[in-house]
Amino acid sequence: MNASNTAVVVGAGFGGLALAIRLQAQGVQTTLLEKRDKPGGRAYVYEDEGFVFDAGPTVITDPSALEELFTAGGRRMADYVELLPVSPFYRLCWEDGSHFDYANDQEALDRQIHARNPADVAGYRRFLAYSQAVFAEGYLKLGAVPFLSFRDMISAGPQLARLQAWRSVYGIVSRFIQDEQLRQAFSFHSLLVGGNPFATSSIYTLIHALERQWGVWFPRGGTGALVRGLVELFEDLGGRIELNAPVAAIETQGTRVTGVRLDDGRLFKADAVASNADVVHTYAHLLGAHPRGAAQADALRKKRFSNSLFVLYFGLDHHHDQLRHHTVCFGPRYRELITEIFGGNALADDFSLYLHAPCITDASLAPPGCGSHYVLAPVPHLGNAPIDWTVEGPRYRDRIFDYLEQRYMPGLRSQLVTSRIFTPLDFRDELNAHLGSAFSLEPILTQSAWFRPHNRDADLSNLYLVGAGTHPGAGVPGVIGSAKATAGLMLEAQA
Ligand SMILES: Cc1cc2nc3c(=O)[nH]c(=O)nc-3n(C[C@H](O)[C@H](O)[C@H](O)COP(=O)(O)OP(=O)(O)OC[C@H]3O[C@@H](n4cnc5c(N)ncnc54)[C@H](O)[C@@H]3O)c2cc1C
Repeated sequence: MNASNTAVVVGAGFGGLALAIRLQAQGVQTTLLEKRDKPGGRAYVYEDEGFVFDAGPTVITDPSALEELFTAGGRRMADYVELLPVSPFYRLCWEDGSHFDYANDQEALDRQIHARNPADVAGYRRFLAYSQAVFAEGYLKLGAVPFLSFRDMISAGPQLARLQAWRSVYGIVSRFIQDEQLRQAFSFHSLLVGGNPFATSSIYTLIHALERQWGVWFPRGGTGALVRGLVELFEDLGGRIELNAPVAAIETQGTRVTGVRLDDGRLFKADAVASNADVVHTYAHLLGAHPRGAAQADALRKKRFSNSLFVLYFGLDHHHDQLRHHTVCFGPRYRELITEIFGGNALADDFSLYLHAPCITDASLAPPGCGSHYVLAPVPHLGNAPIDWTVEGPRYRDRIFDYLEQRYMPGLRSQLVTSRIFTPLDFRDELNAHLGSAFSLEPILTQSAWFRPHNRDADLSNLYLVGAGTHPGAGVPGVIGSAKATAGLMLEAQA
């Protein structure tokens, strides 16, 4: 593509935004079309009674990938958004009352590991070295490379074999570490991108090294401030974004796409189209009229999809300063619960939770003296467990509030000012997510790299994908990497 080209990007999630910025920065006149009234996708923002709730991503890693977007546009990130360091990265808590502060401080880590099992101090170092090797190979080298041909996969084969990529995350962690709670502490990360630690490739241990390398960050003003910064950058570069603009169809002519049509009938012609929307939605609905759409949607529906999430946002008239910014509250079961979340057909009686307390880092997200929070529980997607969340949602909310009040946030109920829930039905209906999956295709080895939907469609030569459903996959660094891979393909294509 060259400077006189035009592109449409469907969906303003992190992937769509990052792609639109990269295209616009290279002079491709780019229009970003978003269904909802605000940009961000899973990183939407709710504002209720003075409380600001980031809807999705809160653990911001790899700031260099974000900085690269600003540099691509000839700007400095610091002029748009400020990233604050978070320490500890997470507090991990168990029901026996013990906890582990996972921080970027080797001595503090060694001390805590030693207290649990002295032999695991050396084991942890070997695990860290392993995850650093995977990080160098899987993230630094291949994280933003499009896997368009099987040859690309074969050439990555020897390294994948050397790193024992066929093993699971938990399997690898267990080779190095004996203590069961430490095994949980160093294997839960794949859940952050929709991966079952017992089934996902050990490649995903790279998240551990990535956090150790660059830290965990939180934008001042919340993740929403980062989204706003990216939108501002895109507009400063001359890009155009339309909100409340649901795309009804991608228009085609033979094996080319010619633009998109909105629900309200408006047409946007373009030399190339990239979809940041859910991959099944893209093929089944936006390309439903083209044979390629129906065929690819059928193929995708046979794949395995990640779990969904139940998310509960709540504002309190009290600041719980005993909390850390990020807390993982492990329930009584680990392997069994995860098996039920990924394969079960009902909601388990117990849960493990992630609790977000952003006011620990940035008090401006709630009225003075108050606290904004969210808590999420991984739950099965609607294809496995067709739960009626309109009934179950409020019940589940109450169970979670009871649990938090008992164990983590005394007085919670009497401090409650506002709350709202987001269930698998909302992932499906608000975000067009197939089966209400929170992270798109499950990141197992046979659905990764070349096996994942490609960044460029195989038949429609100017149709591209970006975001969690394509290579490399979910998570903010993942979808920003996908934007780099997709932008590379779009920019090298000749009009
Ligand atoms: C609750 C939660 C917490 C998470 N926490 C973290 C975290 O801490 N750290 C991390 O790195 N990752 C986290 N993730 C994962 C991460 O948020 C996602 O993988 C990533 O944001 C997905 O980005 P995406 O580019 O694929 O697009 P999405 O965010 O999925 O956005 C796609 C956009 O397309 C729009 N769209 C859909 N259909 C149409 C249409 N027909 N027309 C127009 N627009 C359309 C949607 O409205 C949406 O805005 C979390 C996810 C969730 C749900």
